[in-house]
Amino acid sequence: MDAYLCVSIDCECDKGEGWRVKKPLSFAGITAGIAGRLQPLFARFGAKPTYLLSPEVLRDPASVECLNALTGSAELGTHLHGEFVAPDAFEPDETTAFQCNYPPQVERQKLEGLTGLFQTAFGKPPRSFRAGRFGIGAHSLPFLAELGYDVDSSVSPHKDWTKQGAPAASFRDAPTQPYWPVFAAPEQAATEPGPLLEVPVTILPSRLSRLPLIGARIEPRWLRPTRGTAEGLMNVARDELACAREADRPVVLNCMFHNVEIIPGLSPYAKNEAEADAILQRLAALLAFARGEGIAVVGLSDIADIFAQAGPFAPLRG
Ligand SMILES: [Zn+2]
Repeated sequence: MDAYLCVSIDCECDKGEGWRVKKPLSFAGITAGIAGRLQPLFARFGAKPTYLLSPEVLRDPASVECLNALTGSAELGTHLHGEFVAPDAFEPDETTAFQCNYPPQVERQKLEGLTGLFQTAFGKPPRSFRAGRFGIGAHSLPFLAELGYDVDSSVSPHKDWTKQGAPAASFRDAPTQPYWPVFAAPEQAATEPGPLLEVPVTILPSRLSRLPLIGARIEPRWLRPTRGTAEGLMNVARDELACAREADRPVVLNCMFHNVEIIPGLSPYAKNEAEADAILQRLAALLAFARGEGIAVVGLSDIADIFAQAGPFAPLRG
């Protein structure tokens, strides 16, 4: 059975403690982070990452120039933090908006604006998307399909963002493997292939999730290098592969993090060089694991192409 790894990275302006946006806006996470650290690491492994770009990045000429000049293989897509794009655009202190909470026409206009910024920056349309804070709702997927996207990667299985303010973004029962979603209910798999493939972030239940009372409150296990150990990260990958390989279809792992995590002081996760380096080392361990297992590291839209050729499949639960 073919297995693939996507490394999909939310790319934003520089932030800091408590995810506070640095003012004036700066983009060291693009120039030093992506060009200086991430892309050379991916190139070393012959891996193709997907950089999902927020509006403020697409509007920054130096960031666009830097991304246009990347060497090696990479997919560029979009990432919506709605504060940064019209209507009613502003520079927030923190990016807290969930797009599912906008009136549908406002959400549509923001997605249009984001997609237009990408087209202007790179001279071609984006194919892949992730919502800021994973905040898609009942209108998001049809808008993305109308705008020509092939992949959404906003679904975060086993997570429910109701307490954070987005009751529409509840993915507790979502499949962990790619599926063609019901447009009005993104966590549900449709019975037929559609124009937009959902490639969920790889998130598995905690091993303690079945414990009474406390089980539901224990954070699920993300395929994310931000915290933990390299071994823990590889265990998430191994567990998902073991689960999904029972079915006769391609198996996909989707690791996420942010570009700003791997430069000290630009996110809550790396206060110093040692912490930033530890995140990069865990990512390198995952890439080495993939190479050892013969798992190709491909872009999100490559998964859409693979599934278009190979489908349809029965939906899978992870
Ligand atoms: Zn984001």
